[in-house]
This record gives sequence, C-alpha cells and structure tokens, in this order.
Amino acid sequence: MHEFGLCEGLVDLIEERAGGRTVTGARVRVGAGHAVSKDAFEHAFAEAAAGTAAGGAVVDVVITPLTVRCRECGGRAESMDALAACPVCGGEVEVSGGDELVLESVEYAPADGQADGQPDRQGGGTGEESARVPGHPR
Ligand SMILES: [Zn+2]
Repeated sequence: MHEFGLCEGLVDLIEERAGGRTVTGARVRVGAGHAVSKDAFEHAFAEAAAGTAAGGAVVDVVITPLTVRCRECGGRAESMDALAACPVCGGEVEVSGGDELVLESVEYAPADGQADGQPDRQGGGTGEESARVPGHPR
C-alpha cells in the first residue's frame, strides 16, 4: 500500500513538530502525482499514526493538481491525473508539480494543567500556588 509509506514519513514529521504534545489534527497537501485517494490516505494515516502522538489525530487531506504542459501546442492544464497526452492536440506533455507532500498545519490538544485539576484551593497568602511545572516522570 503506497499511501502507507507516505504516511509513515508524515507521522514522523508530525511527531517531531509536536515535540511531545498530543496531536488532534493535521492538514496535509498531497500532489495528485502521488495518485492517492483521500479515503485511502486517511485510512493509512490512522494506521501509521496508531500508537504515536498523532494516534488520535484527524487528518485533513487536500489533493493538489499537477500541471501538464504540452510540448507540441504549448497548452497548459491542471489535472488530477498524470496525463500522458495533451487533451487538446494529443501531443507529448511534460508533467510538473503534483509530487509534493506538505504538512500544512498541525493542531494540538490544549496544554495540560488547564485541562483538569483546576486549583480550587484559594491561596492562603503563602505564594505557593499551583504554578509548578509538572515535570515529574511517572
Ligand atoms: Zn497540445
């Protein structure tokens, strides 16, 4: 499965960017030249991300078209398929673009410490507030 290989690299990249944060979503741009389907990509992503920081992330895939340019008539077209011939004159085409795999954005879960455990203890004037960074390993 071709999508899986792409997603493995992507998950690595997301984890690197997340730096330990929990990832809830990611937006990815995939060139049409990869010939992936959105569904297959989302499925492969879920598999590749299982057990990582991106395990619960929802991936938003945007497939970007590639550009074909005809060597005969000079026509240009955007296409979701790697056309083999010019749609206008049937001439030989050059395909460009469509090979990108771009991680556009990553969304993270809200930082811990605010999620739960609101300090309901009113400060007794000791200045010892619950501002301690939870750095204790478990
Ligand atoms: Zn042409």
